[in-house]
Amino acid sequence: MVAETQLVGDTQDMGAGADTHFGFRTVPLGDKQRMVDEVFHSVARRYDLMNDLMSLGLHRAWKDLLVSRLRPPRNERAFRLLDVAGGTGDVSFRTVEAGGRGTRAVVADINGGMLGVGRERAAALGLAERVEFVEANAEALPFADKSFDAATVAFGIRNVPRMDKALAEMRRVLKPGGRCFVLEFSRVDLPGLDAIYDIYSFKLIPGMGRLVTGDAESYQYLVESIRKFPPPEAFAELMREAGFKRVAWQPLTGGIVALHSGVRI
Ligand code: SAM
Repeated sequence: MVAETQLVGDTQDMGAGADTHFGFRTVPLGDKQRMVDEVFHSVARRYDLMNDLMSLGLHRAWKDLLVSRLRPPRNERAFRLLDVAGGTGDVSFRTVEAGGRGTRAVVADINGGMLGVGRERAAALGLAERVEFVEANAEALPFADKSFDAATVAFGIRNVPRMDKALAEMRRVLKPGGRCFVLEFSRVDLPGLDAIYDIYSFKLIPGMGRLVTGDAESYQYLVESIRKFPPPEAFAELMREAGFKRVAWQPLTGGIVALHSGVRI
């Protein structure tokens, strides 16, 4: 197994001059965001196609499960979702389509390239009225306290240099009783699947990235960053430290992905 043990403290409690990881490389904490931004600027146009290819379409099922757990109201009742690191808007579109007319979403992402693709998709889907796109850093959200019914982050949190800050911000903007869901790659726990998954990730995905986006390096970062993400029990602890209650997680597809959840009381 190529996976490396992740210390929970890797990106926590680090002052100026601290290091973190960018994939398997150790980099100054202050440099990581710029490097992540370059990755997503480079792949934005082909991001959605690559998601389908890389996950063999599975990301759709994982996101649908997330939306079924969100349970947006099917009637007119107002329901406001914050989709952090929401990129091209996938989770938000699925949520407003599953909910009634009162369901709206805000996609907050640091990358203008990803948001631009998202806005075009919203217009094509006829959802521009119900899904708003805001350029924002997850570590300092430009939203009022207690202003959202739910917050999600799908395959985004591992890219944020200070995950503890992002989780605390999501809690801050949730109304009491509001739920937070984090969908993220996790630890494969099915014997045999781990070896296949490693070969697929490290041998095939960067090559696929080169063919589809012309950029193998960005996909090398993406597969490495998955291995550096904390195991589910450690991430659950980060959610608790951020103040979430009733923290839980559910492994999906043999642990390739986990759906984490918590509530702001
Ligand atoms: N949630 C979308 C999805 O599931 O398709 C996009 C996920 S994409 C793998 C990761 C996203 O995280 C990118 O759009 C990137 O710009 C965003 N991101 C990285 N660092 C961020 C930060 N500090 N604040 C907000 N978004 C960030």
